[in-house]
Amino acid sequence: MVIAMVASCLISFFQLLFYRMKSGFNLFDALFTPSHCENCQSKINVFFLIPIFGFFISKGKCRHCNLSIPLKYIMAELFVFIISFCASIKFIDLCLFGIDCTL
Ligand SMILES: [Zn+2]
Repeated sequence: MVIAMVASCLISFFQLLFYRMKSGFNLFDALFTPSHCENCQSKINVFFLIPIFGFFISKGKCRHCNLSIPLKYIMAELFVFIISFCASIKFIDLCLFGIDCTL
């Protein structure tokens, strides 16, 4: 579960980084600009930045201007969460049955 949550955080971070770099940010600004709504520029509360969880507690919208958050972000986070969760379960199973599971 922890591995899946970390993987979701990483994909969320890299989605943001890719989006900002594509939008013309330099690397420093892409890394250190606080997350904000593209429409109303309001800063996003840290609880709403938690992958998957943040989308559901915000009901998929900015809490200031009600702009919908594109579904592609939550879909990518869910996909990575499920894949990494399944992979970590399989990895643990392999280790419990004594099969060599070193990478
Ligand atoms: Zn907004």
